[in-house]
Amino acid sequence: MLFRCRNCGGNVVYSPERNKMFCPHCDGIDSEEKAGGDAGTECINCGAPLEIKEYNSTCKCEYCGSYMILDERVDGKYRPHLIIPFKIGKDRAVELMRQEFKSRVFAPDSFLSEATLEEMKGLYVPFWMYDYAARCDYAGTGTKVRVWTGGDTQYTETSYYHVERNLDIDFDRIPVDASIEMNDDIMDLMEPFDYRQLEGFTEEYMSGFYGEIYNMGAEELENRAKEKAARDADSLLKESISGYASLVQERKRMDLDREGVQYALLPVWRYRYRYQDREYEFHVNGQTGKIIGAVPVSKKKVLAYGGTVFAVLWAALSLLLHIAEVI
Ligand SMILES: [Zn+2]
Ligand SMILES: [Zn+2]
Repeated sequence: MLFRCRNCGGNVVYSPERNKMFCPHCDGIDSEEKAGGDAGTECINCGAPLEIKEYNSTCKCEYCGSYMILDERVDGKYRPHLIIPFKIGKDRAVELMRQEFKSRVFAPDSFLSEATLEEMKGLYVPFWMYDYAARCDYAGTGTKVRVWTGGDTQYTETSYYHVERNLDIDFDRIPVDASIEMNDDIMDLMEPFDYRQLEGFTEEYMSGFYGEIYNMGAEELENRAKEKAARDADSLLKESISGYASLVQERKRMDLDREGVQYALLPVWRYRYRYQDREYEFHVNGQTGKIIGAVPVSKKKVLAYGGTVFAVLWAALSLLLHIAEVI
């Protein structure tokens, strides 16, 4: 399907700045209507052939620029339950990157230039969100030690405590990246997202952006969520029994019950920049604006800069010498 403008027939996209559907051709607001059709092989708008990867859930026609959503990849088992819509539009994402990197004097001139920024894409990354109820049961013996001096004698008093804890912890929406294209480490660095802004999924939010379906099912990826939950539960338990000089564990049990799992899409801007046969990737969290990526260093600029430093130093040195001579 695609979203077509009732006023002018152009392709309507979701605008994060306006928090509305927007027609960039006639500036129409909320003027969209769904145009059906299977975008499996050709553009619904102009009929041009489309290049679609097996995991894409949206695509853009290279000829007319229309964004299409692939019906069968947002339907049935692939229908997302939740989505965080883009809160940061492309212009804002670029501005944030410029601010972040303006102090990097060694960046090549073409970095963040208009031409290369064409390649910047907004992607919805597929995630599984797991809910768990954790029950921790702990028993042990803790000691507290008090030391004081009276006259010539040093006294030590050791008190023994029976420590018992029963913690019930609810974990809501532990996220696990289910994307092929997006590296897990990068998505970990993109955290945190504010999951309170998750909304029910609708296709409108995807218009104007790229999307992917999950590459692995909720069962296959569950262990990663379980490990996260167990780790967090364990540190909460540790926190609750801190303050003892020593602690000997007698019993520890942790049970995790999965209470639910939902399929969600999260927004990320990706900017790929090629420089001297190397590809650099930058990511901007489409909700919070957090930036991940390292700027390439231009050797030419480093040399020019080094030269300037040297010249300044040289000038200072010769000035000193000159002064010395006058004296
Ligand atoms: Zn229009
Ligand atoms: Zn087209």
